[in-house]
Amino acid sequence: MEAIKLDEFRARIKAQGTSDRAHAAFKCPMCKTIQSMTSFTRAGTDAETAEKYIGFSCVGRVTGAEGPRKQPDGKPCNWTLGGLFRFHELEVIDDAGKAHPHFEVATPEEAQALEASITTTEGQP
Ligand SMILES: [Zn+2]
Repeated sequence: MEAIKLDEFRARIKAQGTSDRAHAAFKCPMCKTIQSMTSFTRAGTDAETAEKYIGFSCVGRVTGAEGPRKQPDGKPCNWTLGGLFRFHELEVIDDAGKAHPHFEVATPEEAQALEASITTTEGQP
């Protein structure tokens, strides 16, 4: 498990190089799906819900996905970091020194691939 400060957390998001904060991408620790706030809003949530869920609950929670499979199969799951079991791989330390479990920040390649995949399907039914 890795613990990083807010500054480092923000720096990693900036390093993703996506066009907008709504495309900042994170990886679910259970199903390994890459997801951004845009993944949530495209799944039908409003922006406020997306902001609350991103990096903490898997996008599968809003699409009615199954629980995590033994082997990630590329599909989202219904995982949330708020549960009893603590499998997260990242904690973000806030300015007051408190640790917050968070999904890992995706790599720039992963984040940009996600944004590109969302952008290319834009406007399609
Ligand atoms: Zn998941």
